[in-house]
Amino acid sequence: MTDCIFCKIVAGEIPADKVYEDEDFLAFLDIHPINLGHTLLIPKKHYENLFDLPSDLLEKIGPKIQLIARAVLVGAGADALNLGMNNGASAGQLVGHAHLHLIPRFDDDGLQHWSAKEFSAEIFKETAEKIKKGL
Ligand code: 5GP
Ligand code: ZN
Repeated sequence: MTDCIFCKIVAGEIPADKVYEDEDFLAFLDIHPINLGHTLLIPKKHYENLFDLPSDLLEKIGPKIQLIARAVLVGAGADALNLGMNNGASAGQLVGHAHLHLIPRFDDDGLQHWSAKEFSAEIFKETAEKIKKGL
């Protein structure tokens, strides 16, 4: 896609600190890292987010996530790692080319985790039923 910043990185039109590349995927350092070593894993072909990814890429991506996550963990000297994917604007997706965030975490990095909300047991049951209907 001509206007996509990540497609431009794939095409070599914009520089990036690449850490992994194969036929289907590219991984490179996030330009505004949450912690040093924060890496983005993207499909080379343009798909907007999780909901557009074709099944062949979904099947292939699992082992790549583990491979790159291990390398990020060791390379960054981290204690742990968050794996994340923002799908849609309300979820914080700013770049409309599917990408996974691999974020090295440190015992003392000071980052806060998301806070939880309270709901009744009935609402939990209703919600589980609604989700099951969509499968
Ligand atoms: P999102 O909020 O869409 O899940 O995350 C997009 C990520 O892409 C952000 O963390 C942002 O820092 C990163 N990003 C945006 N533009 C560039 C760029 O030109 N190069 C690199 N390496 N990362 C970028
Ligand atoms: Zn793109």
